[in-house]
Amino acid sequence: MRAAANARGGIMTHIEHRKDTLHVESVAVEAIAEAVGTPCYVYSHARLVENVRRFEAAFAAVDHLTCYSVKANPNLAIVAAVTREGLGCDVVSSGELERALRAGARPERIVFSGAGKTDDEIDAALHHGIRMLNAESRGELERIDRVATRRGVRAPVSVRINPDVDAKTHRYVTTGLRENKFGIDADEALDVYTWAHTRPGLAITGVDCHIGSNIRSLEPFAEAMRRMRTFIETVRGRGIPIDHCDIGGGLGIPYDRSPLPSIEDYARTVVDALDPAGSGVQLLLEPGRILVGDIGMLVCRVLYVKRHGERTFVIVDGAMNDFMRPCLYEAHHEIVPVTRRGADAVVVDVVGPVCETTDFFALDRAIELPHRGDRLAVLDAGAYGFGLASNFNSRPRAPEVLVRNGDYTVVRARESFEDLVRGERIPDFLT
Ligand SMILES: *Cc1c(COP(=O)(O)O)cnc(C)c1O
Repeated sequence: MRAAANARGGIMTHIEHRKDTLHVESVAVEAIAEAVGTPCYVYSHARLVENVRRFEAAFAAVDHLTCYSVKANPNLAIVAAVTREGLGCDVVSSGELERALRAGARPERIVFSGAGKTDDEIDAALHHGIRMLNAESRGELERIDRVATRRGVRAPVSVRINPDVDAKTHRYVTTGLRENKFGIDADEALDVYTWAHTRPGLAITGVDCHIGSNIRSLEPFAEAMRRMRTFIETVRGRGIPIDHCDIGGGLGIPYDRSPLPSIEDYARTVVDALDPAGSGVQLLLEPGRILVGDIGMLVCRVLYVKRHGERTFVIVDGAMNDFMRPCLYEAHHEIVPVTRRGADAVVVDVVGPVCETTDFFALDRAIELPHRGDRLAVLDAGAYGFGLASNFNSRPRAPEVLVRNGDYTVVRARESFEDLVRGERIPDFLT
């Protein structure tokens, strides 16, 4: 794990091999896996807190509010750890809103994003008195206006602008191009702002954008910020006050260990291009992956090593239902032995037991050849890992474990068969 340790340039990783066995903080991953079974997610609390503090330090010079994007890792313990550091939450459903509140987020630090809010979700947001709703279409603003009027309140809203910049990331996680479903074009948005300003149920408070996820260069952010700055001036020119600019999330992490812009580079770029102080806006940030992506791993056990013509398959007990990023986004994740054997590397496919060809964690990957029963760790699985898990193939979802101070807590239990069939019923006519 030398390479991984070095990727953060001297910063403690809290996840590394000691002698030959992988540790999270000072706890051996073998011991956790032995106790809770595999597959399981293991996260480092220290690493999470360090990421949050580093992010906050990078933006300390500007008036800002960081709202953790709950969808990246929605576990209550993770959300609680983040809100304890003073962060707010960015939520995209009433389920996430409930999670944020239950985990201790203050309503005035919660923003509600997402392209299709239901009336019930809008009502819940207003009921709890959250900071604002990010609206993504005129139709949605009309609904918010109506629901707020019915409640006799004015809903604080921002409108998500689609700045039409190419985030140069995987096409499934690009959101800021005109052809994407997200936000409103800047030209059209001006009319929407002018209209919304006259509505009794709406209180316009700011502007919003989010150009994509796992972005690996700074130029798309700089370009988006320049466009947002111009847009803010234009809206104010119409006599509409704007008090914040929400710039979404999207900063990538070095999954394959190639160098990427740091949090500090990102902060500098955003602040230079947007000039929040000069523009008189509070900066709102919605980071997800950059805070939780590298806090942990999915631990699996090798079931079989199978040779098939030229290929070698390592079949593990974790599968695409546990961790979808490789099959969904063709994502690269480092895979390391939990305990090294010191054997030579061979090229293998690491695959799961699910009946789909897309059920892989790595293809053509050189790793030390494991034996049956060995454990492997799929690294950097803290973001969009458990949150995307499903019960496909009637597989119970994996437990999640949080390590802190030489100890660990199971922060989500492994699902049981009863969990799998909860709510299902065989109707009388079939019994
Ligand atoms: C997903 C999402 C985020 C977080 O994105 P990351 O790439 O994880 O930083 C922030 N804001 C919105 C609106 C999102 O949809």
